[in-house]
Amino acid sequence: MSKRNIFQAFFLVVALAILTFVITVGKASIHNICPYAIVCFGILKGNILILSLGLASLGIFLGILLMVMSMFWGRVFCAYVCPIGTFQELLFMFFHRRKRRQIPYYAEHKLSKIKYWILGINFVLVVSGFAWIYINFCPIYALSRLPALAPLGIITIMIIVIGGVFMERFWCRFLCPYAALLNIAQVLGALFGIRRRKIRRNLERCTDCGICSLYCPMNINVNRDEYVESVECIMCGRCAKKCPKTGTITIEREP
Ligand code: SF4
Ligand code: SF4
Ligand code: SF4
Repeated sequence: MSKRNIFQAFFLVVALAILTFVITVGKASIHNICPYAIVCFGILKGNILILSLGLASLGIFLGILLMVMSMFWGRVFCAYVCPIGTFQELLFMFFHRRKRRQIPYYAEHKLSKIKYWILGINFVLVVSGFAWIYINFCPIYALSRLPALAPLGIITIMIIVIGGVFMERFWCRFLCPYAALLNIAQVLGALFGIRRRKIRRNLERCTDCGICSLYCPMNINVNRDEYVESVECIMCGRCAKKCPKTGTITIEREP
């Protein structure tokens, strides 16, 4: 078990404990600890400065903190903490223990844009006072309401599960609006001159075997350039772990 897996297991247990508490005690709101509350509640009536502190203050704070963190360290939250990401990794591992295949990069690129549309639609809904429409589709909110059934949220959960069986981190790659937000934060960070930590491939040591790309959970073409520039990289380090030439792939701040 790697260090990352230990973190993932820990946060999965924490998330399940919180969920159980919310379901059984029923007094706390799941919005309070969800970082995506920055979109659901953090912008009201188009004014990003009106933070609805009474509704989801900790969630909004976490959302902002993780966005700032991603400017420096990339999407480590996705690789180490987020239980939805961990769940999808486990699911895929269960069904695909031996064979691995990736979809073509052009298809990956096109499909990965869907999450920005979802984020955009969410913004419009929140600003126009219809945030509840999106919230009804939220998988976390649906789980927190068990045993009551939230049909629209269950549809989202089914998409996560069915997609995740066929493609690793299907939801993360194509649909997660919080991933879109973290990606935008990374781009903004770069515009402000923040040098993010990135995956680096030592071109002299690399044999171009492509194993790193084959095992990348985000289907990134790792063996294309020296640095992985893609904001989709979650800094999981699997490419480095799978590379047969130890020490070829490292995590570094770009010079
Ligand atoms: S992309 Fe979304 S669901 Fe996936 S790990 Fe990141 S925040 Fe979680
Ligand atoms: S797995 Fe290692 S040697 Fe193979 S292409 Fe990737 S970096 Fe190069
Ligand atoms: S490029 Fe490497 S660190 Fe980034 S997501 Fe892919 S396997 Fe993980």
